[in-house]
Amino acid sequence: TDLSRIRNFSIIAHIDHGKSTLADRLIQRTGGLTDREMSAQVLDNMDIEKERGITIKAQTVRLDYTARDGQVYELNLMDTPGHVDFAYEVSRSLAACEGALLVVDAAQGVEAQTLANVYQSIEHDHEIVPVLNKIDLPAAEPEKVRAEIEEVIGLDASEAVLASAKSGIGIDDILEAIVAKIPPPKGDRDAPLEAMLVDSWYDPYLGVVILVRVVNGVIKKGQNIKFMIGGTEHLIDRVGCMRPKIEQLPELGPGEIGFITAQIKDISQTRVGDTITTVKNPAAKPLPGFKEVQPVVFCGLFPVDANDFEKLRDSISKLRLNDASFSFEMETSAALGFGFRCGFLGLLHLEIIQERLTREYDLDLITTAPSVVYDMHMKDGTVRHLHNPADMPDPNHIEMIEEPWIEAIIYCPDEYLGSILKLCQDRRGIQKNLTYVGGRAQVTYELPLNEVVFDFYDRLKSISRGYASFDYHQIGTREGDLVKMSILVNNEPVDALSMIVHRSAAEARGRHMCERLKDLIPRHLFKIPIQAAIGGKVIARETIAAMRKDVTAKCYGGDISRKKKLLDKQKEGKKRMREYGSVQIPQEAFIAALRMG
Ligand code: GDP
Ligand code: MG
Repeated sequence: TDLSRIRNFSIIAHIDHGKSTLADRLIQRTGGLTDREMSAQVLDNMDIEKERGITIKAQTVRLDYTARDGQVYELNLMDTPGHVDFAYEVSRSLAACEGALLVVDAAQGVEAQTLANVYQSIEHDHEIVPVLNKIDLPAAEPEKVRAEIEEVIGLDASEAVLASAKSGIGIDDILEAIVAKIPPPKGDRDAPLEAMLVDSWYDPYLGVVILVRVVNGVIKKGQNIKFMIGGTEHLIDRVGCMRPKIEQLPELGPGEIGFITAQIKDISQTRVGDTITTVKNPAAKPLPGFKEVQPVVFCGLFPVDANDFEKLRDSISKLRLNDASFSFEMETSAALGFGFRCGFLGLLHLEIIQERLTREYDLDLITTAPSVVYDMHMKDGTVRHLHNPADMPDPNHIEMIEEPWIEAIIYCPDEYLGSILKLCQDRRGIQKNLTYVGGRAQVTYELPLNEVVFDFYDRLKSISRGYASFDYHQIGTREGDLVKMSILVNNEPVDALSMIVHRSAAEARGRHMCERLKDLIPRHLFKIPIQAAIGGKVIARETIAAMRKDVTAKCYGGDISRKKKLLDKQKEGKKRMREYGSVQIPQEAFIAALRMG
């Protein structure tokens, strides 16, 4: 295709501002799908994505648009993941485009994710086309939001397109704006092949499918290609694009976005951001911007029923086929038995995997306290990366501990600011900046990631009644006064509940855990001490009083069937319990105890 007829763009938006609805409209308008096929949202294709309304994997679709100038343009629309956990994937998707549609809900205005995404887009030198969506809503205030975009982001929004993705208003204007404002890609057809690996996924029929953006040269079937960073070589057997249905093509030239397959079985060979070149006439060096993705949040996953271990192994391996960004290795715990230590890109990623295991694979799981990765600088000069509190070395051998920090942008209506600042302060936050735009505050904080992984986001949403929005990125590691806090039930440590905490927060968290567990663990025939301890020192304690009588005593009298029912129920309950120091702890207690409330 003639380069001047190609436009590559992504859509950036805060969650729920209408990104997916607009993408579907653009596909429908340019004839990619029939009305019947349109009935379900096309670009979000996983159940969890639909329920949570976020895009987890990037997808792309090619649209042929006959513009008002009579020419046919090839528009490649890249849908980017909508969550901070996938920031690196987002950055690669943006790097594959020359422009972006900035979709802002005309009734809601600019939000934290709008800002975070738009700054990234600007960093990639994108031409940005603002779209004021949902103008069909009575509450829409397009002029106010237009001014907000100019004031907060500093973009010229005088030509922002007024649209309703839902009712189909302004769709042609958006398509014309893409053609007129977003620059065509540049590239040299005769140069050695350089194509960026933007995304990859596992397809049961095709094997690993790779989404590429060709920068220079041409990619076609039968070529021997090489991943410049991954190092492996493969023979291309298919080249094509998605409309969104798969269509095979003879080749992809410079500036084009499409897919290739090369009989790859293992997705971990395909690293997002890698450069694909030919074996015969390779490029001199890889394209810039590659980063190794590293899991940042770890937790243990154990089957409630020990007999499910093999099933859990199978299910995790299957999920991993499609997601190279999460890691797992076997873990054994004194009390939980066999399970897996898993690493995730963030808390949402963790929840997604956990939810899929529960829902799609029908597994009952115990999840241990999430942990970030700590750098333990040992007195012998070595550095250990610790992601399981159970492996904490003897503190006498540790010189100092570093923990990861983030910079967070929080955007909220003025009236909630006080409680939000308090939340950030309580979580050891350092305030960097505070500005007001209209009746809204934008506050920037530096926070230890460890304080955010537990329930920061839930707390933020609840204290702001859902109005605060939040986005973050990592800013490196800093020294912290961190200790391992253990929880002992009937004098026995419960490894699943031990965690690394800042010394200043240890007592409060320990007390809270003990109080929680006191309510969550059922009474037994004996008294149960519950303690939180650092090293040998107990910092909080509670006691569960002994149960006076046998449960069945309540059924004193002749009602045998009721008695039997009660016993059956107890038995049923036992299956979902774990035993520590002869104490039965229900599965729910682990999860509930970890919520800070
Ligand atoms: P995303 O999270 O940005 O992908 O947002 P979605 O496209 O999933 O839209 C979020 C919600 O807003 C859905 O319930 C849509 O039906 C609704 N929505 C999207 N566009 C419009 C619009 O133009 N007008 C109205 N009234 N609702 C819209
Ligand atoms: Mg969406």
